Amino acid sequence: MRYISTRGDRTERAFCEILLEGLAPDGGLYLPVSYPQIDAATLSKWRGLNYADLAFEILSLYIDDIPAEDLRAIAQRTYTAEVFGTPEITPLKVLEPGLALQALSNGPTLAFKDMAMQLLGQLFEYELKRRGETLNILGATSGDTGSAAEYAMRGKAGVNVFMLSPHGRMSPFQQAQMFSLQDANIHNIAIEGVFDDCQDIVKAVSNDLDFKRKYKIGTVNSINWARLLAQVVYYFAGYFQATKSNDEKVSFTVPSGNFGNVCAGHVARMMGLPIANLVVATNENDVLDEFFRTGVYRVRGAADTHETSSPSMDISKASNFERFVFDLLGRDGARVKSLFDDAIASAGRFEISASEHAQIQPYGFVSGSSTHADRLATIRATFEKYGVMVDTHTADGLKVALENRQPGVTMLVLETALPVKFAATIEEALNLTPPRPAGLENIESLPKRVSVLPVDAQAVKAFIETHV
Ligand SMILES: *Cc1c(COP(=O)(O)O)cnc(C)c1O
Repeated sequence: MRYISTRGDRTERAFCEILLEGLAPDGGLYLPVSYPQIDAATLSKWRGLNYADLAFEILSLYIDDIPAEDLRAIAQRTYTAEVFGTPEITPLKVLEPGLALQALSNGPTLAFKDMAMQLLGQLFEYELKRRGETLNILGATSGDTGSAAEYAMRGKAGVNVFMLSPHGRMSPFQQAQMFSLQDANIHNIAIEGVFDDCQDIVKAVSNDLDFKRKYKIGTVNSINWARLLAQVVYYFAGYFQATKSNDEKVSFTVPSGNFGNVCAGHVARMMGLPIANLVVATNENDVLDEFFRTGVYRVRGAADTHETSSPSMDISKASNFERFVFDLLGRDGARVKSLFDDAIASAGRFEISASEHAQIQPYGFVSGSSTHADRLATIRATFEKYGVMVDTHTADGLKVALENRQPGVTMLVLETALPVKFAATIEEALNLTPPRPAGLENIESLPKRVSVLPVDAQAVKAFIETHV
């Protein structure tokens, strides 16, 4: 399989070439030249596989520059019951017939980003060792990405992590998870701004090609293709658990911010997985909901970016969204470039035509949004009706899922975090303290390792120079 950019650069690159990269050189995102098609016989064969073997089968369709036996070993090292808590890795919690949560949040940082990041850690270690190289990972996080990256890379030889986060904007638990890591190769940098400032700094540093080359800067933020690919696996795993035969369809509701998680659902659907709808659920930061309803994609300024009780979805633009637009617009890279480069740069928005908007429907996308009051109500109702405690992001998903159920189609809501990560809102809704997994009882009181820097790419570069 070869990979091309969404902005018109047709240079075809191999998986391991793009594994350690972020954006394509023309500023676009990488996508495979085509999506492998899964026929009914293959689907039936996969139905019986455990998660690691299923992951291997899917990965091997997209990765042909790692020997199969090595790739299988990587998948088996990654997806273990020890790391993810159960043999199913992403077990379903059935709420009622036709409605279930798919638990993606049982990894080391209790959020779904572990699903991809743990694989990325293994792939990076493998590839860097093979090349005899080192890498400095630069990332931006609003909470879950950063901790997942740090837990995946901690102690790995040849890798340093420089993780930017918005100063004071993560929950105390999230801050404790990240900042308590004492590994020498993990560097926490709190930026005096919002998440998008952090992301802009990452882009600015990565666009300085001399610096990038000299300091071997790589990225693990959600635009990394390998992360997206890892996430494709659990759509298949969820489908197999929810159905008895390949004649059935399921829908997925996905709490969305940067459109990474649900974009993996799009890829799974393009491969032929029988998905009815992909329901995009946003919080008050409804950039995506607005697009799916109206065809207008409007980037928000920092002042319009709401700080919410589902903070991992507090985005002003959806960095993976360009991948879907590329497919929607017939893979016309010049058009995508004109929308995301020219229109966004000059006007901060673009609008697709009515006939293009009508093309969304066959892809199965629908959307909705929710508010803080909705989250509280959903957390309460779910606890009262089913005895199940959900986190705030999963609550956003569940609220929108219930508005989009179809008769005869099972709805799977992706559970993207455990309630304990966002305990304050759970206490507000239920007057109960969510249970903590063993070993995490007192992490807020552990010593913290973090440096505070201004919104300034130069300051971050200087920090990297003195810490590699
Ligand atoms: C990152 C995250 C999301 C949003 O995922 P995207 O891939 O950015 O759309 C939702 N919920 C939680 C808990 C997250 O950490």
